[in-house]
Amino acid sequence: MTRSEGLAKAGFSSLIELAINIPHSYSDTRLSERVEVSKINTIEAEVLSVSRPPKRLLVMVRSHVGERNIEVTVFHPKPYHNALFKPGMKHVLQGRVELFGRKLRMTNPKIVSKTGQIVPRYRCRTRQDIYRRIVDELVSVESLVEEGLERGTAELITRAHRPDGKWLELYRKHGGIGPKTLEALKFAEAFDYFSRMRAKRVRFDAKSSLEGSIEPFLKRLPFELTEGQKGAVSDIAEDLRGKTAARRMVVGDVGSGKTMVILAAAMMAYPHRSILMAPTSILARQLYEESKKLLPEYVDIALVTQGGERGDPSSAHFIIGTHAILYRDLPEADLIMVDEQHRFGTEQRKILEKFHSDGKRRPHYLQFSATPIPRTQAMLDSALIDISLIGSTPFVKDVKSEIVGRRDFAKVKEHIERETAEGRQVLVVYPLVEESEHVGYLSLEESEKFWRSNFDGVYVTHGRDRLKEEVLQEFAQRGSILLSTTVIEVGISLPKLSTIVIAGAERMGLSTLHQLRGRVGRTGLKSYCFLFTNTPDNERLKAFIKTKDGFEIARLDLKFRRSGDILEGKIQSGKEFLWLDTAEDEEIVKRAKEAAGGR
Ligand code: ADP
Ligand code: MG
Repeated sequence: MTRSEGLAKAGFSSLIELAINIPHSYSDTRLSERVEVSKINTIEAEVLSVSRPPKRLLVMVRSHVGERNIEVTVFHPKPYHNALFKPGMKHVLQGRVELFGRKLRMTNPKIVSKTGQIVPRYRCRTRQDIYRRIVDELVSVESLVEEGLERGTAELITRAHRPDGKWLELYRKHGGIGPKTLEALKFAEAFDYFSRMRAKRVRFDAKSSLEGSIEPFLKRLPFELTEGQKGAVSDIAEDLRGKTAARRMVVGDVGSGKTMVILAAAMMAYPHRSILMAPTSILARQLYEESKKLLPEYVDIALVTQGGERGDPSSAHFIIGTHAILYRDLPEADLIMVDEQHRFGTEQRKILEKFHSDGKRRPHYLQFSATPIPRTQAMLDSALIDISLIGSTPFVKDVKSEIVGRRDFAKVKEHIERETAEGRQVLVVYPLVEESEHVGYLSLEESEKFWRSNFDGVYVTHGRDRLKEEVLQEFAQRGSILLSTTVIEVGISLPKLSTIVIAGAERMGLSTLHQLRGRVGRTGLKSYCFLFTNTPDNERLKAFIKTKDGFEIARLDLKFRRSGDILEGKIQSGKEFLWLDTAEDEEIVKRAKEAAGGR
């Protein structure tokens, strides 16, 4: 059996994958050194006498250890039992020994044919003996070291497949493998993941290396870039200088200033052409305006949306647009960027295909996303695509988060009265549009009356509202309180928004709550986030109000979802691992990545 045959038979594609599938239990056929009551004993037994009461076979045996004889009971004996148990015969029997009065008894023992072994049992698709043979032949300290694992790690893993008595004793005592073995397994799993992903990742030559200076742009900025922005910008500068086509995702919370990073990249590309795709016309227009304002005049900028265009896309240095870009005849570009990547479906793939006509060499490609992922997940993903995380926001947000229940409602109402009296705005988010019996919260429609009778300037919208852009525009100008469902995508900024109240908060994922909370205090305004819930004693919500770091919240979200506290559907992304816990094992993943030769 060759290695690939063995792996194929076992159903794995790598040796490490086979190795980390350690036994779920061990059958131990070594003879006991003494008879232990209430434990599984393996004894060499000499049959002394046999009797046959109804439906039973009672065999008195002398054990190879211990002074007292043991009474063995076989219920519903088969003919071969009768043949096996005859005075004078010797067998190795395995079973639990119990004390009945002063008698030792073993009931329905297993008859062991081969003694003196520790036999591993696996979760596997093939027969145990075939699987064992595959492991025996392929998994060894040497073979694992050859795969790139350190000897210590390889030894810990190999030991789990071929334990000695001492190891097994500890295993039994602790009810499973020890912490060191667990860590070795996690490390090996991460290492294997990185090695395989690295092999999968295809690298293309870049159309050109881009080294434009961003100084003229930085000089025009009314502020300095944050540390997070600088980090992303320097990652990108290094990418674009290279001969390999960049493929990078920049992840940063809403408001972390990704636009500046986009503009800096366009400057690096200049005088070569860049293209930027945004999910909505509003966003595309905003990006266009901002570029016009912040980039030097000599950078020619064009806007392409379904509604029309500005500037001359056929000659512009920087083309900004919606997916309308995909259906227009446009010149080639050396840098392609996609903003708010998480809001696109397959279209972002199309844009790459569209803009590389000459087969082999490709444009640099940068994606920007506001969906925070746990740091560990980002590290794992970075095997396939380079990732920059922007961990800071330009404004230190002053948002006070609080869990409130029914009893606190009067207090919340007073707070809203105060805020709106001062000309600030409030967003109240409801879980559902229509009335529902199951939820235990008022719906948007049900509560509308309450708000309208108590406050002026109440506006209402929801995800399916076709007029929501208009409603939002008007609210921004004149409103006090906006009632909505979670599904609204606020395209416009609401600088006066100081308070958000989220009803039924415990029903939402932490990442959703984080996105919602991100809507207030965008301009550094003292802000408030009230999580309204019928179950205030909620661990997730308590964890949520303690942190503002989007990456940490994504990690918590993952952790709580894992632990079964799933609220909005299933875990959405992320490969499932046998040993690794992507919510906890950041350190191990980091080491494994380095060991596998990652940047
Ligand atoms: P994102 O796209 O990541 O959600 P934006 O790029 O829209 O965030 O930036 C949010 C706000 O922060 C904008 O008003 C922008 O002008 C401002 N901003 C960006 N970078 C900085 C900075 N370094 N210092 C101060 N303000 C900044
Ligand atoms: Mg943005």
